[in-house]
Amino acid sequence: MDVILLGPPGAGKGTQAKFMVDRWNIPQVSTGDILRAAVREGTGLGVEARGFMDRGELVPDRVVIGIIAERLKEDDATGGFILDGFPRTLPQAEALESILTDLDRNIDHVVSIEVDEEELVDRLTGRRMCKGCGESFHVLFNPPQNEGVCDRCGGGLYQRDDDKEGTIRQRLNVYRDQTSPLIAFYREKGSLREIDGSGNIQDISARIEQVLTGTE
Ligand code: AMP
Repeated sequence: MDVILLGPPGAGKGTQAKFMVDRWNIPQVSTGDILRAAVREGTGLGVEARGFMDRGELVPDRVVIGIIAERLKEDDATGGFILDGFPRTLPQAEALESILTDLDRNIDHVVSIEVDEEELVDRLTGRRMCKGCGESFHVLFNPPQNEGVCDRCGGGLYQRDDDKEGTIRQRLNVYRDQTSPLIAFYREKGSLREIDGSGNIQDISARIEQVLTGTE
């Protein structure tokens, strides 16, 4: 099963991808996670990407397309994958089509998670991430059992630099201008599945499960 999770920052793509990994046993491929790891490790990729990420802008298409072309060839992706945060522009979506054609496969579902903009700002400003395993929490909506500590691995929690209010507005503008046209692109192809992304994490997972198993 080859799936794209589409939606604005804060819609819950990463959280839902983790549920889908457990449910379908296919990997989550997150360009944001790959880029953040590169920044942490100080690799050439990280140095190139960092400024764009800190400003809430997109990293150039050429860079992220290269990452995905390599990642989707890996063994763990042969049975399917969940793309989280890619594609984010029309040229990325077109490049993905050709990468998949070369691998003789195609996207089965594009799940678009929809949440209104003010709720996204509240979700993003309260979001905290684990340094160890990348799990995400929210100070109000999904707090860890012990403040500042990951429930899953005991790692320390931190706030992403780009989850500060000024950068959040910029990321939402970038989403509106550059990424939201992908909704029409995939609707025309007949692969778009729209999901109400409001409410609690379990309810949203249940909606995704229903559309992917055809039981809605
Ligand atoms: P995310 O964790 O998906 O919110 O991504 C964090 C940041 O990484 C974004 O604001 C971009 O700067 C960069 N990024 C992640 N995925 C992409 C992509 N597909 N295209 C361009 N930039 C990306």
